[in-house]
Amino acid sequence: MELKNKRVLVVGLGKSGIAAAMFLRRQGARVTVSDARSAVALAKEIPALLDAGIMVESGGHGLLTFRRQDLIVISPGVPLDTPEVKQVIGYGVPVIGELELASRFLKGRIVAVTGSNGKTTTTTLLGKILSESGAPTLVGGNIGRPVIDLIPESTDETLNVLEVSSFQLETIEQLRPWIAVVLNITPDHLDRHGSFENYAAMKARITERQQADDFLILNAEDKPTQMVAAKTKAQIFWFSSRRPIKQGTFVHGESVVFLPREGGKAEPILPVAEIPLKGSHNVENVLAAVCAARLAGVPAETIRATVASFKAVEHRLEFVRSFDGVEYFNDSKATNVDAAMKAVAAFPGGIHLILGGKDKDSDYTTMAPLLRERVKAVYTIGSAAEKIERELGGVVKMVEAGTLDAAVREARETATAGDVVLLAPACSSFDQFESYEHRGRVFRQIVEELG
Ligand code: ADP
Repeated sequence: MELKNKRVLVVGLGKSGIAAAMFLRRQGARVTVSDARSAVALAKEIPALLDAGIMVESGGHGLLTFRRQDLIVISPGVPLDTPEVKQVIGYGVPVIGELELASRFLKGRIVAVTGSNGKTTTTTLLGKILSESGAPTLVGGNIGRPVIDLIPESTDETLNVLEVSSFQLETIEQLRPWIAVVLNITPDHLDRHGSFENYAAMKARITERQQADDFLILNAEDKPTQMVAAKTKAQIFWFSSRRPIKQGTFVHGESVVFLPREGGKAEPILPVAEIPLKGSHNVENVLAAVCAARLAGVPAETIRATVASFKAVEHRLEFVRSFDGVEYFNDSKATNVDAAMKAVAAFPGGIHLILGGKDKDSDYTTMAPLLRERVKAVYTIGSAAEKIERELGGVVKMVEAGTLDAAVREARETATAGDVVLLAPACSSFDQFESYEHRGRVFRQIVEELG
């Protein structure tokens, strides 16, 4: 792809947008960036962009800026139906994302992990296993390091392990993973994708360009994920925590096993008891990572040792402390209903659950049976509180806490030894916090200061 002297517009100045703009500039493109935030809000970012010879449009998008371009690189945070974007797509200006742009320059092979939940955990674990095996491995994508930034380090031998979100998949064209993983497809981001069908179709795009010598790893227990199988030319491997499957990874007795082909012999990889992460959802993440690692040729011993020493990623069902016999867990990353249910299901009972934040058009009623079974009380916070109380009132005891601080205080007063206080809010954080990380850090601090 020739970028020299091409007019390229980068829309959205998040981490990946900035990385893309700088990369394009280094390739000799004439780069403009456009962001809806004001120049004041972008004061930290703007000087370096100007220094690099990049033009900056802030405080909104100008249609003229958009029309003059040969290529538009759009950030995952910017919806494709933003009016200016919609218009230029109409004029035939190509619109791609940072992932697609990066994949055209990245050397080596791509191992891509997507799904509604578990991406970061699985990507991190898989990255560790591959690098422990001695393979030259790079990890990036939605996980924090823009894929563009991997380009200078990548070689023909590199395994690029990429965490890929549905928003990033919306703007791919030629991306072709050697190994693609779809962990699960459960309702999330419906406020942006419109319907569950659209959202599921976006996830399925990960396999669009795969060929017969590529691999697609799917969750055998997740119906919407199974449908992706019909859309692929790749060789399908399955994972299941509940039953033996024909080809892939599953739990057999007390062990995780890998079955390389139908009718073949199952290879034992590790005892389930050695998985240090809580919850059956994490067994699924491990099964997916093990399958990908075996397909990449990593021996069972390396996989077993790496899994056994793996620690929960921050804000993912992370143990904070024990106080007065009550355990406190931070699952701030549980930003949708399914993730929150997985977190609840990781404990047998005695749960004080902190729910709420910014609603994403979610249906909380699906939580009712599980809450009735395991949760002693729900403490609501944020702007979704009223909806949650409406949908779950009468199912369990509800405490209108309002803030995280009040929720922890109330929970602490009610909880008795052996109970668990769990932040798994099922909502995004943007009403009261900058991000889920910020929310998780605040929770941790409140809990650490108890007593
Ligand atoms: P993602 O990157 O897809 O958001 P994470 O690994 O960061 O995934 O986990 C996000 C949240 O989803 C966690 O806090 C946990 O509660 C939940 N979770 C993790 N793995 C799974 C899974 N396989 N299925 C359902 N929920 C999961």
